[in-house]
Amino acid sequence: MTDLAAALELVRTVPDFPEPGVQFRDLNPLFASAPAFRAVIDEMAARLPADVDAIAAVEARGFLLGAPVAVARGCALVPIRKPGKLPVVADRVDYALEYGTATLELPGGVLPAGARVAVVDDVLATGGTVGGVCELIERAGATVSVVSVVLELAALSGRDRVGGQEIQALRVI
Ligand code: IMP
Repeated sequence: MTDLAAALELVRTVPDFPEPGVQFRDLNPLFASAPAFRAVIDEMAARLPADVDAIAAVEARGFLLGAPVAVARGCALVPIRKPGKLPVVADRVDYALEYGTATLELPGGVLPAGARVAVVDDVLATGGTVGGVCELIERAGATVSVVSVVLELAALSGRDRVGGQEIQALRVI
């Protein structure tokens, strides 16, 4: 087994979290293994297009992945945050969840128009989260170059809500 395949085997499935019937993919055992975490970061960084100049990392688990990928690639890091956390907000987007809505905010003054951005998160599920982030980036006059995730849950058809963006998933399940 390659280092990457072994790393991805560490993702565990937790039934009935956060609510009955949901199979939650838990990456914590992967983060807790230094070689596995390194294999995942190396692979995400290596797959990004050459012209990416900023990483938009989604709170909270996207931060754990996006920050080391940004350092590895020498890119800017733009944290996309839940409401009420940022002192300077450029824009916010509301997006639909399976039940209800959520909001994400783009920090002000840090994403130049014209930047080519990779959106980084842990899991692409229904695509609402990443779709909302892509909207924030495009409204700022930047371009989404690629979406990079560890896992894509294919049964939830998340890529249909991400508007034709290229999606790099280390594993599709
Ligand atoms: P979506 O908006 O439905 O695509 O959900 C994606 C967001 O919810 C991501 O930011 C993930 O962190 C989180 N998420 C959804 N399902 C899972 C899961 O099974 N494991 C870990 N995170 C998940």
